[in-house]
Amino acid sequence: MLFKEKLKTLLLKSGAFRLRQMMLPRSVLILAYHSVATDWRKQADYITRGITTDADIFEDHMRILRQEYNPITLEEVSDGLRGTFSLPPRSIVVTFDDGFADNYSVAAPIMERYGIRGTIYLTVGATLRQELPWFCRTNFLFQRAKNKNIILTDKKTNRTWHLGDQLENREALVLYCHPCARLSGDELSDYVSGLESWFGFGLDLKEVRGMMTFEQARELRQRGHIIGNHTFSHCNVAHIPRELLQLEMVESNEILERELGEPVEHFSYPHPCLNPQWNDATLAETEKLNYKTAVLTSFGQVTSRRSPLLLPRILLNNQDNKEFRWKLENALAKIQV
Ligand SMILES: [Zn+2]
Repeated sequence: MLFKEKLKTLLLKSGAFRLRQMMLPRSVLILAYHSVATDWRKQADYITRGITTDADIFEDHMRILRQEYNPITLEEVSDGLRGTFSLPPRSIVVTFDDGFADNYSVAAPIMERYGIRGTIYLTVGATLRQELPWFCRTNFLFQRAKNKNIILTDKKTNRTWHLGDQLENREALVLYCHPCARLSGDELSDYVSGLESWFGFGLDLKEVRGMMTFEQARELRQRGHIIGNHTFSHCNVAHIPRELLQLEMVESNEILERELGEPVEHFSYPHPCLNPQWNDATLAETEKLNYKTAVLTSFGQVTSRRSPLLLPRILLNNQDNKEFRWKLENALAKIQV
């Protein structure tokens, strides 16, 4: 372990990554964050720990981006892929999924201190209702159930999980998220309410207000950030019946355009669980909606060979400075260690 860490430090200092990057066709990295919080440990109760970044760590990331890379906007990536903009070397884009309020109150001011403009994808139904999306509710349920050591039994299979056990809890949570990812709108909300009734408790959506408002989104637009669509309900659009694509992709976009008073040109595929996260029908929908870009959660760097409607990203949360540089340098040099 120690040897690996020393090797990483050596490699990062050696200039080997930069040398290799110079030999490769130019690529861009799109970073994907979610929540950025000053009280992330508290917030991890309802927004899963893996998608919450500590504000100080986020600031370190942004400082490194400004000093050692070229932060650009998603618009510039789109222009670069279409050949109307020359992408600088070591270009990086910052994006946020879900539309949490802390993107406005915490992340945006930090980015602006370093002259960085980000892209924030709103879960439109959650923004409209000012309620956290369903996966925050299920995460809260299983977090609480862990502390209460609840035993969950699936009626159909008679399978039992001891939710006080970390691994069993995680397994049950993922399994119970599968039906949610296949549902949309009120049906999805009702399913989660049913789970909450069974557990006998649930996240108080009136009490915990974690979503950005449309007004804040409009203000971020004026400050140079980009607002994109992240569907209506945060389901997996590759796994819902075709007729529900209308609400999840088309109507959500109409609502967002109405609220922002301008065309919405960027989309992010939610990936709560289940694979894949896109298919031919969803791709056709992104084309019909005239999106300039659509991003995925799959790992990779953006090169000129990539379809602008299926762009990979680099998922980030609380990586320390070395780990952050390591992830970025590896991705830019296309070396997977
Ligand atoms: Zn999401």
